[in-house]
Amino acid sequence: MAATVLVVEDERKLRDLVRSYLERAGFTVLSTESGAEAITMAMTSAPDLVILDLGLPDVPGETVARELRVTSSTPILMLTAKSAEEDRIRGLELGADDYVTKPFSPRELVLRVQAIPRSRSPPPNGACSPPWPPSRAGCTPGSS
Ligand code: CA
Repeated sequence: MAATVLVVEDERKLRDLVRSYLERAGFTVLSTESGAEAITMAMTSAPDLVILDLGLPDVPGETVARELRVTSSTPILMLTAKSAEEDRIRGLELGADDYVTKPFSPRELVLRVQAIPRSRSPPPNGACSPPWPPSRAGCTPGSS
């Protein structure tokens, strides 16, 4: 099963661009333009990673990140137009695992998405938990 990425971005062009690059890299992509919907989708669909735009029209990305952190430890990659150091630090404090400042290269974004789980501690007992990355080698499916 391919890893699932939830893309939360209100700019449709950007959302579609990110989606197509991720799909080409082998990910299953869910997307929404709404922060409120993102919180619901994260709970119902349990994505393996969330790409979160900070500038959303309904619920601010900061709030979405906080809500996500209450219910899960799903990695969050933030998209932000705010390049000030203070804002980046704030994003990381909110629980983001990484961030990309707009404008960004879609290829770089995909590389960062692929890199996030590698920087996290490996699952116990060599088990595959959750299927990540899509073609992960070196873990034993089904062992626990
Ligand atoms: Ca936006």
